[in-house]
Amino acid sequence: MNRRRSLVSLAAALLAPAWTARLWAATIARASAVPGGVARIGLGASERAPQARLGSRRVLVMREGGEWVALVGIALAAKPGSKLRVAAEHAGGRHERFEIDVAPKAYASQNLKVPPDQVDLSAQDLARHEREQAHLENVLRTFTDSPPATLAMLQPAAGQRLSTFGVRRYFNGKARNPHAGMDIAAAAGTPVVAANAGRVIDTGNYFFLGRTIVLDHGQGLLSLYAHLKAGDTGLAQAVSAGTPIGEMGATGRVTGPHLHFSVYLNAAAVDPALFLQH
Ligand code: ZN
Repeated sequence: MNRRRSLVSLAAALLAPAWTARLWAATIARASAVPGGVARIGLGASERAPQARLGSRRVLVMREGGEWVALVGIALAAKPGSKLRVAAEHAGGRHERFEIDVAPKAYASQNLKVPPDQVDLSAQDLARHEREQAHLENVLRTFTDSPPATLAMLQPAAGQRLSTFGVRRYFNGKARNPHAGMDIAAAAGTPVVAANAGRVIDTGNYFFLGRTIVLDHGQGLLSLYAHLKAGDTGLAQAVSAGTPIGEMGATGRVTGPHLHFSVYLNAAAVDPALFLQH
């Protein structure tokens, strides 16, 4: 009886992560071929994993039940009504093409009037920002072959989640890039943990983002944590979901302490809320 019960709970424990991943994929399938969303493409059952590309960029392919699926991150800059072309190559060499119709999604806009010297960077700051931008774009193109164990993520810090993902900001009427992450607000010093298992692929102190850590979870799924106060997480360090990686702070260009949390798929910033378990 006891033994039987422990076998049942062992089976439940083994099944739980797979079930969570399937449930997650089913949820996101309904969602979301929208700017900042994730499109799901079924690639059929085969023994070896197919590869899929959006343009020249690899996209995440993982097994879901008995089938392979591609999960394609759609950039916030994608135009509603446009088509994205995904090419799959199956293990035997067979090619298949798919089109994603980008559907509209309304994100809030924010108009801010600020003194011009607060928006126009000095030549020196601008040069620094451009250097850092080029570096980060390169980091965000990271693609490693081993797939994430799960797509479900932990909220990386306790605090109030602000619905800031995708917000289009205008400073004195001039459009800025849409906000590519979720902000979580709490007191400085609040622990920040890895949202999913992975490896540290970048640490830096950047003009806008302040102290920043980027994690690679595999197959182009990355997460980024910015405005950190402190932390001794080193490059190449392996982390589990929930491993402390720093503390909430106010470094970079911010008005108060918060965590800026971004999730990337195939180098496109996608809505972190799609990955959070609750
Ligand atoms: Zn932010």
